[in-house]
Amino acid sequence: MSIALKNTVLTYPDGDTRLRALDDVDFAVGRSELVAVTGPSGSGKSSLLAVAGLLITPDSGTVTVDGVDVTDLSRSERTTVRRTQLGFVFQQANLIASLTATEQLLMITHLSGGKVRGQRARARDLLSSLGLEQQLDKRPHQLSGGQRQRVAIARSLMNDPSVLLVDEPTSALDESRSREIVGLLADLSRDRDVAIVMVTHDLGQLDLVDEVYEMHSGRLTRAAVPA
Ligand code: ADP
Ligand code: MG
Repeated sequence: MSIALKNTVLTYPDGDTRLRALDDVDFAVGRSELVAVTGPSGSGKSSLLAVAGLLITPDSGTVTVDGVDVTDLSRSERTTVRRTQLGFVFQQANLIASLTATEQLLMITHLSGGKVRGQRARARDLLSSLGLEQQLDKRPHQLSGGQRQRVAIARSLMNDPSVLLVDEPTSALDESRSREIVGLLADLSRDRDVAIVMVTHDLGQLDLVDEVYEMHSGRLTRAAVPA
């Protein structure tokens, strides 16, 4: 499995008690799989992504990435796993206003300590493969919402992650753009052998995914994929 959580519990302080944001969660996603996680607001979906993304250490349970237990790694080791094996896409594309689409991707190389020069062609190829060949030198304000989200997805792939964690990628998009983005994620999971976990409220696109899970009060259960 590319990413797996086993018996994972995460609590937050809540007055004199603690709130169980993740209540004994078991979850695993393999290469080439696109998995959707749905559920009401406050049910723990973003907490799941934060634990899977090694941004928060759970109270108990384990997290494995590509079969390696990463639960007890040091902070700097976790950062390395995050930079080399994980990719993130958020609700808003979070692009830098002054940079072109190509430069948004090169920023990732720069932050990882890589040589930017050799990566320019790779950045352009990635953007082109996501249908952005006409937008390579455009800045965020020159792009549509769907195009911005595509740039964010291309950026998340820059380090060739084995796991992509995606939080509500379509919440700012209309129905047909949403369907394009989820369809694109389904293609990416297959073509690039990446495990994708997508949190979504967008029940209309679930027929495009491989598995559906529902989160309720920190408990994760498997649900049926709609026909
Ligand atoms: P979702 O993404 O499904 O809306 P979250 O994972 O953001 O759910 O939140 C799950 C629960 O944990 C909610 O009750 C939320 O209020 C609480 N919560 C989230 N983050 C924190 C935090 N940093 N401190 C305290 N409580 C939090
Ligand atoms: Mg959330």
